[in-house]
Amino acid sequence: MAARILIVEDNKANLALVEYLLTTAGHQTLVATDGVEAVRLARQTQPDLVLCDLQVPVLDGYEVLEQLRGDPELSGLPVVAVTAFSMRGDRAYVLEAGFEGYIPKPIEPEKFVEQVEAYLRPELRSRRE
Ligand code: MN
Repeated sequence: MAARILIVEDNKANLALVEYLLTTAGHQTLVATDGVEAVRLARQTQPDLVLCDLQVPVLDGYEVLEQLRGDPELSGLPVVAVTAFSMRGDRAYVLEAGFEGYIPKPIEPEKFVEQVEAYLRPELRSRRE
């Protein structure tokens, strides 16, 4: 069964790669290129998972998370940070902020789908050998 995954990413090349990998695995993708659009789309479409770049325009990833966490209808929605960590301590900070987890950039295409699916309910994962 396919998952509906909201990708929040402002870099076109990263976005194209992530969309390609997830759709090839059979998932349905929704895209937001800034933080306000991300919150709006999450509310409107109730996706199964959000993959969120931390550095996006208008609202950053932390602000997006805060808004989603403040919405009772989205309380069970996992939000995973996808980001390049520049400083020591960033990883712990991401988890403390309330992200379900993180996937480091640059992403590894051969591992990415599996990394993402670890955050999906088992019935939403693609069949993998
Ligand atoms: Mn970015």
